[in-house]
Amino acid sequence: MLNIKKGFALFLASIFILSITPFVAGATPSNKVAVIVGFKQEPNPQLIRSHGGEVKYVYRYIPAIAASLPPPAIDALRKNPEIAYIELDHEVRAIPLAKPTPPPQPAQNTPWGVAKIEAPKVWNVGYKGAGVKVAILDTGIDTKHPDLTVMGGATFVKGTRSYNDDNGHGTHVAGIVAALDNSIGVVGVAPEAELYAVKVLNKQGSGWVSDVIAGIEWSITNGMQVISMSFGSTSDSQALHDECDKAYYIAGIVLVAAAGNDGPGENTVNYPAKYSSVIAVGATDENDNVADWSSRGPELELTAPGVNIYSTYKGSTYGTLSGTSMACPHVTGTVALILSKNPSLTPSEVRGILQQTAVDLGQPRYDLTYGYGRVNASAAVAATPSRSP
Ligand code: CA
Repeated sequence: MLNIKKGFALFLASIFILSITPFVAGATPSNKVAVIVGFKQEPNPQLIRSHGGEVKYVYRYIPAIAASLPPPAIDALRKNPEIAYIELDHEVRAIPLAKPTPPPQPAQNTPWGVAKIEAPKVWNVGYKGAGVKVAILDTGIDTKHPDLTVMGGATFVKGTRSYNDDNGHGTHVAGIVAALDNSIGVVGVAPEAELYAVKVLNKQGSGWVSDVIAGIEWSITNGMQVISMSFGSTSDSQALHDECDKAYYIAGIVLVAAAGNDGPGENTVNYPAKYSSVIAVGATDENDNVADWSSRGPELELTAPGVNIYSTYKGSTYGTLSGTSMACPHVTGTVALILSKNPSLTPSEVRGILQQTAVDLGQPRYDLTYGYGRVNASAAVAATPSRSP
């Protein structure tokens, strides 16, 4: 359990925590338990219904079904030869965000993180992320914000009908990726990237892994090229792992996620950042020092600015937040810049470029605290081969 000191530190860091809770929290009002059922072959919704279950999603890209089941049915189905696994649908919970909202700048301001990774140098050579589709899996995006253009999206949050942001976190993340290059507010890393709001976390920042998977499915179906995930969990999910692998290896989507705020201990990288198909991003400050709370471990791939980051916020406002949640979209934006120079690169080629061009910090070459180093957009795009004619 978190002690009070650490809990407060996490609050300050404003990072999403997925708390995985046992049966009680997974239980629905009808005493059914929210689960994800993996099948060895084709998913079989009729089998779920025949055991008194209610089907929430039949996934398209992995052989799995999200459902709620009476507890005795779970035991019975675990013995069924059609079924590979049954796991709890993890509940997702966010720490409430601090909401400092200083008045908008009179003129456009380039946030320190965007300058630090040298994104403006990339714009000067003609690449601003144009035409690259970026899915922000989060609390939605403020669709009326004057400093953002939201191209489309979807909501998977029960009780909502819009991907508009009712929390603020998703709008902040989106602005880091692609706030518009105009005369107001801030500018993002890739100001011409196409933002899609995929709402998987609700107003309180709560959601379900089953909804996150549905959001990734939407991203595959709708041709997204990059998925940004500023949330994490300390518990593994076979279904989420399979879905990330499918998006990366089959659909060719670059997946970027916040490493987590469980540092400075060893082996503290969260899921989904921990999966090998996902780029795990830790947080650095203005002096390129890693944040104390930034998660560490062998899965950490890169670091990026994540302390005191000024960006767009819900209600057409702006605010300053800290967390690996803010570091992740600096890498997402950099991926958009790379792909706007050469959209035919594979996800693994994009990762290679990011790793080779990162600014080496900490111990020489790769280390568990900074990964390959702090992302450098200018060096990354310079190392990107031009699109073949
Ligand atoms: Ca702007």
